[in-house]
Amino acid sequence: MRFDIITIFPEIFSSVFDFGIVRRAVEAKLIEINIHDLRDYTHDRHRQVDDRPFGGGAGMVMKPEPLFRAVEAVTSDSPDASVALLSPQGRLFDQDLAREYSLKARVVLICGRYEGVDERVVEHLITDEVSVGDFVLSGGEIPAMVVVDAVTRLIPGALGCEQSAERESFVGGLLDYPQYTRPAAYRGMNVPGVLLSGNHAEIERWRWRKSIEQTLRRRPDLITARELSADQRQEMEEILKDIDEERAE
Ligand code: SAM
Repeated sequence: MRFDIITIFPEIFSSVFDFGIVRRAVEAKLIEINIHDLRDYTHDRHRQVDDRPFGGGAGMVMKPEPLFRAVEAVTSDSPDASVALLSPQGRLFDQDLAREYSLKARVVLICGRYEGVDERVVEHLITDEVSVGDFVLSGGEIPAMVVVDAVTRLIPGALGCEQSAERESFVGGLLDYPQYTRPAAYRGMNVPGVLLSGNHAEIERWRWRKSIEQTLRRRPDLITARELSADQRQEMEEILKDIDEERAE
């Protein structure tokens, strides 16, 4: 799949994309990332991408013309590409949206700066508006990195071990189970015995239970959205009872 990122700070991205899984995915040609300097789509001597807001007020607003030109140039050979503006007002980026994007051939990411972009861009140029959380950052570059990283992990072959993308938090609506590594005992803190038992069925059961327990404790909202079998529901009720008892102690 191919990402096109439109930004006024193209140099910023190497700090993240030149490392780890994203870098390996690029080298393996599983993904392609093209970074476009928005100023290359200006036609004035100062390469101006922003201007004062009509009606007055603080700060500057990103002008529509360079953004329209940039998106039209980047998508000229692919009119079906998703064009996502990173924006605190957008749809919350989550694992479901990451999966949706991982199935697309082309995703264009527009990084806003200043007070944001001219509303005509929102109304007539983009297909999606994506937020990485209910807080305001100084620009869309970090959110674009978040999107590329999370989506890349879901591209078949991007992770060393195929299983790890299937077992991570949010897949199937549950948080991940706790992980341990060597040493088995450290400063009196011991790894749960079942993980050392070699009994794979027991280990699976323990992990499933812990996944539910972590989710119930930390993100109970995820559980309500999940479909469970009768057995799973009963098990969840038992875990809930245990948690209530612990709280009461
Ligand atoms: N005035 C805008 C508002 O209140 O909605 C905020 C503009 S913000 C300072 C500048 C740019 O950072 C935005 O255009 C957007 O591209 C990016 N940005 C900030 N917070 C973001 C978030 N939570 N998710 C995605 N992008 C964000």
